[in-house]
Amino acid sequence: MSLLVVGSIGTDDIETPFDKINDALGGSTTYISLAASYFTAPVSIVGVVGDDFNKEYIKMLEEHNVDLEGLQIVEGGKTFRYGCKYQYDLNVRDTLFTELNVFEHFNPVIPDKERKSSFVVLGNIAPALQINVLNQLYNPKFVVCDTMNFWIERTKEELIEVLKRVNVLIINDSEARLLSQEPNLIKAARMIRELGPEYLIIKKGEHGAMLFADNTIFSAPAYPMENIFDPTGAGDAFAGGFTGYLHKNQTLDFENMKRAVVYGSVMASFCVEKFSTKGLEDLSYLRIHDRFLEFRELTKFN
Ligand code: AMP
Repeated sequence: MSLLVVGSIGTDDIETPFDKINDALGGSTTYISLAASYFTAPVSIVGVVGDDFNKEYIKMLEEHNVDLEGLQIVEGGKTFRYGCKYQYDLNVRDTLFTELNVFEHFNPVIPDKERKSSFVVLGNIAPALQINVLNQLYNPKFVVCDTMNFWIERTKEELIEVLKRVNVLIINDSEARLLSQEPNLIKAARMIRELGPEYLIIKKGEHGAMLFADNTIFSAPAYPMENIFDPTGAGDAFAGGFTGYLHKNQTLDFENMKRAVVYGSVMASFCVEKFSTKGLEDLSYLRIHDRFLEFRELTKFN
């Protein structure tokens, strides 16, 4: 059974202190599915684009064994566009524009063959759509969910309904504080897990990620990088690496979950090395595994 990914697909205009790129491939689903594709196949996506969407992007996703049966292409419609600018502190991103276009009336339809999917990643979309997706699935065993400030601030009640039905929530530290209204991350994690998710992952950018479970915390460092070109999609690449690894292994014990967090961090590190999705397009499982071993060396001590 494939790994099902639902979220945004579109083009991004990205400006960093080093360079600028327009109409680059972006969207949460894109980054998640590309990152997961190095671990498992097929990865099936559900999303929407307009007929202006560059066919080269479709070809590239297909070359990574991404199943596009659930991709709706709206005739005469314009694809979702997002623009952002990073400051010298690359953790600070200003949104320049968000043009929802065909994404505004997105009605995710899960293809029949995917309704029994047991592993699902709900990318960053409106919580109401995430619920809509879950309602179309028979009995998913492992649901991983992402969200962002935008939804926490505007649609918190729906988000809380989603959280009752997910196994893992992946958010960053500021989102965790916003969601829980609690500044301390340990307390925040306890409060968020009480809302439903058995596991909570809090990403802390260049300071790594923390995995919270019953009475246990695992802390993974971030890969020390000298050249970060574009942080866009790092969180989604993390979610793709994390879930892709677990989908491949089908083992959900805590030790494997820890390894998945490190594979997630590995994919995020490759993602930020190049603009847009380029850092995820030409990898091999061997390179990924080598970096995984470097992570292990980083944290080993007696
Ligand atoms: P990340 O850097 O992990 O937050 O994800 C960046 C991707 O999210 C970009 O490629 C954008 O196209 C996409 N994105 C930005 N804003 C939204 C939004 N409001 N809803 C869905 N996707 C978005």
